[in-house]
Amino acid sequence: MKRFQLLQVKVLGAAREVGRSAFQIDCDGVNFLLDYGVELGRESAYPLQVNPQDINAAIITHAHLDHSGNVPALFVHGSTDVYATPPTFDLSRLLIEDMIRLEKSNLPFDLSEVAKMMMHSKEIKYREKITRGNASFELRESGHVLGGASVLVESQNKRLFYTGDINPKGSRMLREADLDLGEIDLLITESTYSQTDQMPRLEAEEKFIEFAYEVLDRKGTLFVPAFSVERSQEIAVILKNAKFKHKVVMDGMAVKVNEIMLKYPEYLRDAEVFADSVNHAVWVRGERERKNMLDEPAVIISPAGMLVGGSAVFYLQNLALDKKNGIALVSYQGEKTPGRKLLEKGLVSIRGKEVRAEADVRQFEFSGHADRTALFDFIKKIKGTPKVLTIHGDDQSCTKFAEEIHERFGFEAHAPNAGEIITV
Ligand SMILES: [Zn+2]
Ligand SMILES: [Zn+2]
Repeated sequence: MKRFQLLQVKVLGAAREVGRSAFQIDCDGVNFLLDYGVELGRESAYPLQVNPQDINAAIITHAHLDHSGNVPALFVHGSTDVYATPPTFDLSRLLIEDMIRLEKSNLPFDLSEVAKMMMHSKEIKYREKITRGNASFELRESGHVLGGASVLVESQNKRLFYTGDINPKGSRMLREADLDLGEIDLLITESTYSQTDQMPRLEAEEKFIEFAYEVLDRKGTLFVPAFSVERSQEIAVILKNAKFKHKVVMDGMAVKVNEIMLKYPEYLRDAEVFADSVNHAVWVRGERERKNMLDEPAVIISPAGMLVGGSAVFYLQNLALDKKNGIALVSYQGEKTPGRKLLEKGLVSIRGKEVRAEADVRQFEFSGHADRTALFDFIKKIKGTPKVLTIHGDDQSCTKFAEEIHERFGFEAHAPNAGEIITV
């Protein structure tokens, strides 16, 4: 005879790594899939497989591909309902279709699976409770990207909170995270910056603006490779806020994301400031326009943030070899990405050859994630004595974080491996 209802987590990815986030939550027979992402690199990596027939609901926390990119795989030999906020669906679809265009045959699914995913999409609002059998879930605003969420899962007598990617304080564009949670039995927390504190945001902004003037004043162009969702827009907002005097250009996927974001003013902290900022920039559409952008000094914001594909590759090749130009890295640079290589070794690949970049390369911290202090503040406020899983960070960031959580708060905490099953 069963006396207690169990809540079980199977870790499918993002275990001691950033990428392919995926967690299967079994609430005594009702199964939720939290995220189903990919890891894009030289070779794409996927989370452990699930059988879509076993999943009562798949939930996408936010559009970044490390959380959404493998959801179409659920529709290759089956189907399930997929839940997310409306902007998350719009942005996920855009990013996934772009990934398919770039990766082509390397992926286990195609555009038809994306279409099926959209047919099974169920748009929900923050704090809207969805019930399946004896279990339910709801999304909570996460302050990380437009429409982004954390997930609160409740079974009959257990409560789980999964941060997804979280920025408790929000940003110039986004409101703070919604962390009024009640008691939690199991916490799955991101660990991306658990070992690093970031420069205060205003200071980072000042340094960035200074660098932009430095480059533009010597008639160079400042190239800012940035994630299309939504670092690109944030950089535009920062420049506008500082009343930056030179031309600002946005290109590639960032432009398409602008269009989607303008559709959802209610998800922004200040829709007017946002619209002003992105509309102030020149939006590049097409190759000829792109070439023209090299003719006069400007700040050019263009994905991809880690220089893996996108129009960023064009700008890198055309701007990296001239020392009057500048390159500002403003996103997380994953291991083995061209961005990390540029940052650490000063090298760029140009037509298959590795050469030294002559442009002034600098890094700025505009993370959309909680930093170390913010993560500990967040955990301090958690009610109850949850078991804690530290995920979504490199090995050190996950394992050290778990140790520290145990030391400081006495919670049972560890950095799980992929395939591990944890029960509360
Ligand atoms: Zn993210
Ligand atoms: Zn992520």
